[in-house]
Amino acid sequence: MNNAQRMTKAPSLISPSFDSSFSDKVLTWFDEHGRKHLPWQQGITPYRVWISEIMLQQTQVATVIPYFQTFMERFPVVSDLANAEQDDVLHLWSGLGYYSRARNLHKAAQMVINQFDGEFPRSVEQLMELPGIGQSTAGAIASISMGIQAPILDGNVKRVLARYNAVPGWPGKSSVAKELWAIADELMPKERVADYTQVMMDLGAMICTRTKPSCMLCPLEQDCEAHRRGEETLYPGSKPKKDKPERSVRMLMVVNKHGEVLLEKRPATGIWGGLWSFPEIQVDDELETEAGRITKLELNGYEEWDSFRHTFSHYHLDIVPVKAFVENTSAVNDGDRWHWFQPDVPSELGLAAPVSKLLKKIKQSL
Ligand code: SF4
Repeated sequence: MNNAQRMTKAPSLISPSFDSSFSDKVLTWFDEHGRKHLPWQQGITPYRVWISEIMLQQTQVATVIPYFQTFMERFPVVSDLANAEQDDVLHLWSGLGYYSRARNLHKAAQMVINQFDGEFPRSVEQLMELPGIGQSTAGAIASISMGIQAPILDGNVKRVLARYNAVPGWPGKSSVAKELWAIADELMPKERVADYTQVMMDLGAMICTRTKPSCMLCPLEQDCEAHRRGEETLYPGSKPKKDKPERSVRMLMVVNKHGEVLLEKRPATGIWGGLWSFPEIQVDDELETEAGRITKLELNGYEEWDSFRHTFSHYHLDIVPVKAFVENTSAVNDGDRWHWFQPDVPSELGLAAPVSKLLKKIKQSL
């Protein structure tokens, strides 16, 4: 499938016939560059592949190697693990983190012994019945140790396939994952399934890395859509950020007959702690009543300006500025809290950013 064909096949990228060029290319690369000497690639059994796959989740190969070797010395076969004390299993796991993985390993080993007569089941579906084994891990065990044509889709493979096909979106989203699984399924060859699974992991770990993929060394360079677009790192899409909450507030900009503006010192803690700002009135409150309660001033009219947004790290604040006029200012006499600000005089006060902006506008409006 060339790039032009791939681009016209939206939204599904699946072709009806198997395209061997993808697997041929990566397997040729594997023969020359793939990893073949990792401890779990020797004396391959479902048990050894399974332990390595679980250890490799969220952990680098170099870190895993000594843990794998110690684990295999202590629990060489699945029955040794099933019969072990949980504390012993956790002890050998300490330092690898995510201890639920070790607890699940122990439980799954007992299930293999008790429910499957000591043999790992020979289907992806049944492997997935064991605790801690998802579809990708099941695919790795089935393909690497049993020669079953079952694709994998771990983080590395997701990245390679998302880039190769320029699949938009975050793979944590089920529709995106579904599309990537369909592609993984389509590309999986019938022959050399163990090597194919290994090379897909190798490409993701060694060539198609997260921030700086080595496309020049990649066997997929010619047909990779993300590479053709020069947009490798846009794929796969990142997790959407949670929408920030939104709040609204009215900022009361009281102006007296001398053109001075009333500022209030904010409490020492909290947003804009200790800075000078405008008195704030909630949008649902009755403006004049609330203004009188807060400032003890009687408004002689007011005008509402267009609102604007100020964004904090954890929420958006929509500010509705209200310019109000007062004749009598004598009610405001607490100098620690209130300050009549002269827009013409350079400020020595600490001002919140939107307040500075509004003060400039007030100056222009006077
Ligand atoms: S060409 Fe580049 S972006 Fe595409 S699969 Fe290879 S390394 Fe990844």
